[in-house]
Amino acid sequence: MKKATLKEITTIKELFLTHYDKAVTELHYTNAYELLVCVMLSAQCTDKRVNLITPALFAQYPSVLLLSQANLEEVKSLIHSCSFFNNKAVNLIRMAQKVVEQYHGEIPLDENLLVTLAGVGQKTAHVVMIEYTKANLMAVDTHVFRVAHRLGLSKAKTAIKTEEDLTKLFKTELDTLHQAMVLFGRYRCKAKNPECEECFMKPYCKSAGSFKVN
Ligand code: SF4
Repeated sequence: MKKATLKEITTIKELFLTHYDKAVTELHYTNAYELLVCVMLSAQCTDKRVNLITPALFAQYPSVLLLSQANLEEVKSLIHSCSFFNNKAVNLIRMAQKVVEQYHGEIPLDENLLVTLAGVGQKTAHVVMIEYTKANLMAVDTHVFRVAHRLGLSKAKTAIKTEEDLTKLFKTELDTLHQAMVLFGRYRCKAKNPECEECFMKPYCKSAGSFKVN
């Protein structure tokens, strides 16, 4: 697949920023603790599913301190409809314990510190920083990966390399561009049956017309 030209990259960036200038996460949260828990749960799981799970979870554990003292089986049962709930329950409690022990119960809003918490990798850390602090960072989930490749912005095989490519190409406003690409991939440039006919990216897309119409 052809790579996007510099002119196309500039136009693609402008189009995302114009169409999604106020894009934010669809996860429901009220503070940094809740956001981090939501993002940890959302790995390999849909935001819709996470939003169904978290009201009961946050009612039971409204603070990182209470989560740090939680019973593992109880957490598992509260998040059991989430993929990988066994590991996620263990990581949630370990994350909370470290935040209480090392960060005085405050979620550290620093990507280098976030990744030291159990169950928090670079993508999770970046998503939290993007959403909560508007940090100029990119994060690549399945939607961003697909959109980046279809538009010829990256040929990388991994999410981390794709993130590097997007960061180099776009340079600024990465937080809004991340949110934009997630929503664009989720609702328009879908994995199956992308809505190419009505797509504002079509003139710049390297994949338009390559999908079968069902
Ligand atoms: S034209 Fe189709 S494949 Fe290309 S970005 Fe738009 S929806 Fe995605």
